[in-house]
Amino acid sequence: MKASPIAPTVDFDRDGVQHGYLRLPYSRDESAWGNLMTPVTVVKHGNGPTALLTGANHGDEYEGPVALVDLAATLDPKDVTGRVIILPFMNYPAFRAGRRLSPIDGANMNRIFPGRPDGTVTEKIADYIQRALVPMADLVLDFHSGGRTLDFLPFAASHILADKAQEARCREARDAFCAPYAMSMLEIDAVGMFDTAVEEAGKVFVTTELGGGGTSSARTNAIAKRGVRNVLKHAGILEGAIEHAPTVLLDMPSSDCFVFSESEGLVEFMVDLGHDVRAGDVVARVFPTSRTGAPPVEYRSKLDGLFTARHVSGLIGMGDCLAVTATVAPT
Ligand code: CA
Repeated sequence: MKASPIAPTVDFDRDGVQHGYLRLPYSRDESAWGNLMTPVTVVKHGNGPTALLTGANHGDEYEGPVALVDLAATLDPKDVTGRVIILPFMNYPAFRAGRRLSPIDGANMNRIFPGRPDGTVTEKIADYIQRALVPMADLVLDFHSGGRTLDFLPFAASHILADKAQEARCREARDAFCAPYAMSMLEIDAVGMFDTAVEEAGKVFVTTELGGGGTSSARTNAIAKRGVRNVLKHAGILEGAIEHAPTVLLDMPSSDCFVFSESEGLVEFMVDLGHDVRAGDVVARVFPTSRTGAPPVEYRSKLDGLFTARHVSGLIGMGDCLAVTATVAPT
């Protein structure tokens, strides 16, 4: 395999705080010998575990970036045992554009792992994260939210894994985050995900969905900021007691969780996030917009559970994810 073209301006083995960049040569019309400079912070103190903390894997999701730039600006190395690598804007071109995907190559960072050292810009960044950063990490926390087209109940998530000991370690780190909800998550499409790459490397992996709609809120940012410090305490990197908060356990037991739109038009949601729904309940109606007098198409939950995610924007297109019902796990 070729060497990565990315050169970090920080030394990951040096004690103290360093704020620098992952520098990727990016020759283009505006800058012949230019570079893409992705901000990175390393905070290291002595020997101990390494946490890799990432945000803006999708560029229009904001709780992760807010919590991570705040952490990068305030984390004191004397409070750290081990190392914290903070990458608040994984897909920096997408983040700068306020878009889910990179405007440079149209790539979805979370469908492109393990990336390629000789690929497109997004593939080169993924390859560097996969081959240089993930091997340094014992634990990876990757923040997501719904972006411009989805909104979620705030949850931390871990996946069902073949290695049950690893699955338990991931679940324990997820629960230490202390989000209002904790999810055992089913992915629609796990191929190429950062999640899968980290889990296949045998690491502890936690992800989140903390809100959405292309912005963040005081409530969801507070959840993110508390969660990241709780996970670092759980890993033994920060001292102090975990700041506990009540958590409801949720499950996505099958693809019956999802309701996808089979029509396009004007959406009327019949329930709001966090409300109980029963199998067969109408969760939304979609009206055609080409004429008046036509009945709406009704969309029903297939499961009993909690209304956990929904489409954002008042209009919806064919095949869009309209709603997600998660089941409440027995306690
Ligand atoms: Ca996302």
